[in-house]
Amino acid sequence: MTAILGAGISGLSAAYYALRNTKMVPIVIYEATNRVGGWLHSIKLADGTIFEQGPRTMRNTNDKNSNTTLELIEQLHLSDKIIPISFRHPASRNRLIYADGQIHLMPTGIKGLIEKNSLLNRSMFSVLWNELMVTKDLKDDESVYNFIARRFGEDVADKMISPIIAGIFAGDAHKISAKSFMTRIFEAEQKHGSIIKGLIHERFSKIKDNTSINEKSNNTQTSLVQRAQKEKWSMWGIEGGIEHLPETLAHNIIDRGVNIKMQHKCEQLKFNKDDVELTINGEIKTCSRVISSLPAKTLADLVQDQHPELSNELKGIPTVTVGVVNLQFSENILPINAFGILIRPKEERPILGVIFDSHIIPQRSKATVLTVMMGGAWFEKYFGQCSSEEHLLSVAVNQVQEILHIKEDPKAFNVSILKDCIPQHLVGHMQRLTHIHNYISTHKIPLGLCGSSYQGVGINDVILSAKQAVSDINLHIL
Ligand SMILES: Cc1cc2nc3c(=O)[nH]c(=O)nc-3n(C[C@H](O)[C@H](O)[C@H](O)COP(=O)(O)OP(=O)(O)OC[C@H]3O[C@@H](n4cnc5c(N)ncnc54)[C@H](O)[C@@H]3O)c2cc1C
Repeated sequence: MTAILGAGISGLSAAYYALRNTKMVPIVIYEATNRVGGWLHSIKLADGTIFEQGPRTMRNTNDKNSNTTLELIEQLHLSDKIIPISFRHPASRNRLIYADGQIHLMPTGIKGLIEKNSLLNRSMFSVLWNELMVTKDLKDDESVYNFIARRFGEDVADKMISPIIAGIFAGDAHKISAKSFMTRIFEAEQKHGSIIKGLIHERFSKIKDNTSINEKSNNTQTSLVQRAQKEKWSMWGIEGGIEHLPETLAHNIIDRGVNIKMQHKCEQLKFNKDDVELTINGEIKTCSRVISSLPAKTLADLVQDQHPELSNELKGIPTVTVGVVNLQFSENILPINAFGILIRPKEERPILGVIFDSHIIPQRSKATVLTVMMGGAWFEKYFGQCSSEEHLLSVAVNQVQEILHIKEDPKAFNVSILKDCIPQHLVGHMQRLTHIHNYISTHKIPLGLCGSSYQGVGINDVILSAKQAVSDINLHIL
């Protein structure tokens, strides 16, 4: 029997992929709460408006990560529920940054390359040209902030990359690992002495191999992956809210025999010679192997007694808490059609950014829907340890009114405090992952790992991590 811990999108995906191997069945998922989906949570208002508490869109990057998700969508017969957002859509082109007390448009395209932009007060061409002149510095890893400041300049690290890291990880760019978050460009400097040179080199090698790769991949790609490429999607959402994905996935695997046990919290794991003992709600259950989709620091507590060394490594992947405030206003009140606005952390404002939901995914009502993300790495600094939802709401409304010059009050809202929701891949993350995987294989522990603590924090990353965890543990069985 295979036990999967957690029924978020990665735990459900792990069950989906595990069903392909008869040696892995029967499969039981133990989920601590009374719902599936984890952070994928859509609240539907009476007028059809959707408030997303967690994610709302998936990125389309034409790589293994995003293609795996599209393949899953197609296999679940959800293709007709997709809301594609192309590269030409204003939500893809227009990304705003709040810095020096003003709203700036992130430079994009040829215009952004040549013209001086208000955010950096120089053109992107000058940024890239300067990078070519910087001498190479050999490093095992460093923070995203240091890496970008060293290669492109302090202004790019402070005004462009720091807000982006706050938007993706709700984290501090001074702490997030460059090697883990921007592997390709980090390695470009190490191999070619410059990021630009490395990327140009990569581009030429790709053009050389292009015909054979295209022929090969066109034969294996599903029609949805091909459609996404042809229509140049930059991201996509799901009709009726993102929670539709885990709900459909759960129905699919239940129909094929997976047992999802809700309100079954795993409290301890013990790996014996011939089986694994799981303490679930105080009772001992056994199985042959475990796939954990729990945050690393939760798993650390479960293995602490038997494997303190592994537990310590897992504890080195901390999490941050995010306050999410969804707001609905009566009419279109935003200054520009865009994906949203990210706040430069140095501005010392108590919010990370605002997503313009109704500009990204059309809502049934004509209302403007916004989501304010708050806290993250700075949660305690701005909200203390036990901030109330009322306080978060009033801060969110004040900030949105001030930054976006909105005069009216919201007519509907929802506030949630998502405790420990985003793992932080700190400097040294890749090395930590190697230690964790080496420990598991050296000690022959039948444990697979998936979820946002390891390979990446986006939905595409965690679905791929689930597929990978199943194939890792399959190697163990054979
Ligand atoms: C506010 C926010 C916005 C985001 N926006 C985006 C976005 O726009 N695009 C994108 O791609 N990604 C986004 N993400 C990231 C994305 O949501 C995550 O990558 C994804 O939800 C992680 O899924 P998971 O299944 O790995 O983990 P989780 O969703 O955390 O699932 C883990 C499950 O395990 C359960 N559990 C915990 N402890 C136990 C236990 N002891 N025993 C049993 N069960 C347990 C939990 O209840 C939960 O159901 C966002 C995340 C957040 C928080």
